[in-house]
Amino acid sequence: MKTIEDLDVAGKRVFVRADLNVPLDGTTITDDGRIRAVAPTIAKLVERGARVVVASHLGRPKGAPDPQFSLAPAAVRLGEILGKNVAFATDTVGESAESTVAALGDGEVALLENLRFNTGETSKDDAERKAFAEQLAALADLYVGDGFGAVHRKHASVYDLPGLLPHAAGDLIATEVGVLKKLTEEVARPYVVVLGGAKVSDKLGVIDNLLKKADRILIGGGMAYTFLKAKGHEVGISLLQEDQIPVVLDYLKRAEATGVEFVLPVDVLVSAEFPDLKTKAPANPSLVAADAIPADQEGLDIGPKTRELYAAKLADAGTVFWNGPMGVFEHPDYANGTKAVAQALLDSDAFTVVGGGDSAAAVRILGFDENAFGHISTGGGASLEYLEGKTLPGLAALEG
Ligand code: ADP
Ligand code: MG
Repeated sequence: MKTIEDLDVAGKRVFVRADLNVPLDGTTITDDGRIRAVAPTIAKLVERGARVVVASHLGRPKGAPDPQFSLAPAAVRLGEILGKNVAFATDTVGESAESTVAALGDGEVALLENLRFNTGETSKDDAERKAFAEQLAALADLYVGDGFGAVHRKHASVYDLPGLLPHAAGDLIATEVGVLKKLTEEVARPYVVVLGGAKVSDKLGVIDNLLKKADRILIGGGMAYTFLKAKGHEVGISLLQEDQIPVVLDYLKRAEATGVEFVLPVDVLVSAEFPDLKTKAPANPSLVAADAIPADQEGLDIGPKTRELYAAKLADAGTVFWNGPMGVFEHPDYANGTKAVAQALLDSDAFTVVGGGDSAAAVRILGFDENAFGHISTGGGASLEYLEGKTLPGLAALEG
């Protein structure tokens, strides 16, 4: 894979596919980690006199402009981080994009509006995607792929566009891939994996590969309930993926056969209602044993015994990969499980990798020093698919 050092960028229009998909509360960015992560690549290009055209997706708009998914707040924040003005185009490939890019001088930066305001970006139809990629290509001379959080997507700006322009990987992608590669090679043991979060079906797949690699797998968050149910416990109205129970049972069986330790919650915080994340009104959860969840309640965080258990299982780790919060950390009553795992990572001497958009945001929002972790990945799905051993379209395109 070429790096930006291999490109002659001075005076050239350089398209940087970034991942500025940051969490927003209205127009306020609640965690700018992804913007900060790509800023060094952009700053380097600026320094070398490139005319930098940054593009990203944000959220899941339906192929048409939708103000709630505008990247305008990201342009302001990127400008603050770079310490220079970032021009903002109010469309992606239309008049505003054309004139904004045409107005760029050497060492100047523009951000295009959300790529997903165009159906071509995510289209499953190769021709439609290609046509959109050609429109994007018209705005640039060179391509730099640095949106690690999107490299697992076969999207126009990630997969098709690099084929149309001389291309290289940005520094963020180079770093992310370097760290993940380390996790697939010789790791310091015990290698402990912590999985949680809400995207249960997206995350079960990685266990297949991790069963061959990890020594211990700790399960929390929403996926814990599919495991508890598979073990024959009732889980009330908790997140549950019933159709995945056979898969989960197979994992448990294989883990036992190969000596991989699977650890499930022993107690959980439950409530009849999902908490109000806006008002953060007290949720008054009850604490129950993991095999005694009432029928009308849902599990929303791991309990204190589980926190202690997981901390102990992490204490002697040599390597840790953590993806997915242990509970609904956005509410203070359900943040303690996630906090405990973050603290346990910091207390261990392990090489620690945190993956997942929400997990990374959780670490920062809950007040931990992000520099104290070995690596905080900007890509959840992307890092999981890498560890699953899949070919990532955006990385394959950069290799070509
Ligand atoms: P990541 O972005 O780190 O990969 P996910 O997107 O899979 O993580 O999941 C993050 C979300 O999971 C958070 O918004 C959190 O509130 C939610 N979550 C965690 N535990 C539970 C649970 N037990 N029930 C419902 N949602 C949960
Ligand atoms: Mg997420």
